Amino acid sequence: MEGALTARDRVGIQDFVLLDETTEVAFLSNLQKRFSKDLIYTYIGTSLVSINPYKQLDIYNKKLMELYMGVNFFELPPHIYALADNAYQTMLTEFNNHFILISGESGAGKTEASKKILQYYAVSCPSTALLNTVRDKMLMSIPVLEAFGNAKTLKNNNSSRFGKYMDIQFNSQGDAVGGHILNYLLEKSRVVHQNHGERNFHIFYQLVAGAEDDLLHQLGLERDCQHYKYLTQGECAIVSSINDRNDWKSVKNALLTDLHSVQHLFGIVASVLHLGNIQFGSDSKARTLTYSLIMIFPLQLLGVDAHSLHEGLTFRKLEAKNDQVLTPFTVDHAIYARDALAKAIYGQTFTWLVNTINESMENKDPSKKTVIGLLDIYGFEVFYVNSFEQFCINYCNEKLQQLFIQLTLKAEQEEYELEDIEWEVVQFFNNRIICDLVEEKHKGIISILDEECLRPGDATDLTFLERLEEKIGNHPHFVSHKLADKMTRKTLERGDFRLLHYAGEVTYCVVGFLDKNNDLIYRNIKDVSLQMNIFLSCEARIAFSIRRRPETVATQFKSSLLKLTEILMAKEAWYIRCLKSNESKHPGQFDEALIRHQVKYLGLMEHLRVRRAGFAYRRKFEVFLKRYKPLCPATWPHWRGEPADGVEVLVQHLGYLPNEYKMGRTKIFIRHPRTLYATEDAFDK
Ligand code: ATP
Ligand code: MG
Repeated sequence: MEGALTARDRVGIQDFVLLDETTEVAFLSNLQKRFSKDLIYTYIGTSLVSINPYKQLDIYNKKLMELYMGVNFFELPPHIYALADNAYQTMLTEFNNHFILISGESGAGKTEASKKILQYYAVSCPSTALLNTVRDKMLMSIPVLEAFGNAKTLKNNNSSRFGKYMDIQFNSQGDAVGGHILNYLLEKSRVVHQNHGERNFHIFYQLVAGAEDDLLHQLGLERDCQHYKYLTQGECAIVSSINDRNDWKSVKNALLTDLHSVQHLFGIVASVLHLGNIQFGSDSKARTLTYSLIMIFPLQLLGVDAHSLHEGLTFRKLEAKNDQVLTPFTVDHAIYARDALAKAIYGQTFTWLVNTINESMENKDPSKKTVIGLLDIYGFEVFYVNSFEQFCINYCNEKLQQLFIQLTLKAEQEEYELEDIEWEVVQFFNNRIICDLVEEKHKGIISILDEECLRPGDATDLTFLERLEEKIGNHPHFVSHKLADKMTRKTLERGDFRLLHYAGEVTYCVVGFLDKNNDLIYRNIKDVSLQMNIFLSCEARIAFSIRRRPETVATQFKSSLLKLTEILMAKEAWYIRCLKSNESKHPGQFDEALIRHQVKYLGLMEHLRVRRAGFAYRRKFEVFLKRYKPLCPATWPHWRGEPADGVEVLVQHLGYLPNEYKMGRTKIFIRHPRTLYATEDAFDK
């Protein structure tokens, strides 16, 4: 760790706000200087910039946690513990709600950051036996949800394939009394298909590699991933840096302390692998499927009857008035039905897991509480081929960037204007235009996709592309093969469209968009999955069995993101901006071009400029006066005049210099946090 007095030229500056000049060159040079000394954290005011070192650093331990507890922000070198602690301390003194937004592209270190924060609260918050259980449940949820919701992708060996927002609830003494997780759109398609170089969800490999011989035998599994179709499409079942056997142990331990139906849970996981191996006859109809040994295990493990499963996988059931008509599937249809069942089973199991974890973390303390929310969602990603999943993930990242813009760049500057504080406007790129392009009612891509999904008749992925070209063809952030100029056309296939996201261009291949958005499963397959009643709550069963057409996947996702934005907007924000240091996951390698690109699209320079020109702290006159009036005889115990005048008297008494603060119309603005810390310290004198 660096000492309290750092030599600027040796280890760089701890807060970008203090740089001599706010150029990109100076920013990157400071970042690199620090990175070369393993100093991965730097502040922009009270936000934290973090750069992935791709190596274990000795900066996360109990001793350091204790060092950071209750210490003012700038008294120690930048650290994620400092940000976690300041959010916590502010929540306690002001008794309000907070959230920590962790953003950055896939592999930048968001999930690691969120784990460090949880571990910090687990150690730093006061604890009692009862609270320990809530705390333990929170910590236990990490390996379990990672096993079921993370996977190796080309970008990241432990990539989050679901979004996670976790509320940590505190009582007025600051004890962690409960927790609640909201999960967003799990990438279910991964269960049945993985691109080259990628894997299925970790849990499958952990089970096959780590389960005890007895358990494996009961589940009818071989100890060899190569045996299973669903595990081998990416051709990388074994990854040198992932230890599935060890991970199995921690997941199993976490589950055993938590869940009664662990055995059944593993049965379900195994049944998905068995389902993937079911083959269908090679004649044109799928009817040749017979009860082979392969079928027996899914039947036992899922607890469904043989007849329904056989029928579900080989016939389509149409219900007409009082009659049922069974039409045999083609082989392709049967494969589709099998995969749909596997995805549905896995999706339901994941939901059940989250619900079970939530029940175990439920707050039993009836007193009023405040929360700190932690948001760790899949990062922006661009692959060689990008599909519906990347479209949803990248849309989600657009929304989070929009939230950041709203709360920092936009709201901040508007507030100065509103409060009549002299201000030189900082220009920034507002990605609202791309959010609208995706989500606007009737005109946005999601609406156009839904319309195509609902259109009876001949709608296909390609007609969806045609609709896009008709309706948004001349949008500046959209281009397709047909509409592109000659040069661009060479870089696009016929079924492609390209979006100019805030973080860069992404070319999407439309194949599968309609299907994935509909996420329909045949009626009798639905009946099969309903038989696995153990994992479904009553409500979920009712929702699942309703015959009316459910909302499409993209629309559900859009609504859930809207709700999330509302949840976050009502809280005070803290930011961790994660940067990926290089594409090849090499320890200590600083890829300047890659990092410059991220600094640009994350809007870090604009953030810095607004921060530098602005004021770190602001409070309504009344609130400020109420808190600090004991420090001045003229305001204590009562100030009888206007609150603004009282604040003026108070700060004069405290010796604030004219350039340290400004009086707005309703609030006082303080330039540096250290001014306020000195005021806080005055209470102790
Ligand atoms: P995704 O969007 O794909 O989920 P992410 O931003 O959550 O990506 P992480 O899984 O947190 O990325 O990080 C990727 C990998 O980088 C980790 O598995 C770890 O190897 C390494 N890493 C990240 N942060 C740190 C850190 N602070 N110290 C050491 N290694 C780290
Ligand atoms: Mg992650």
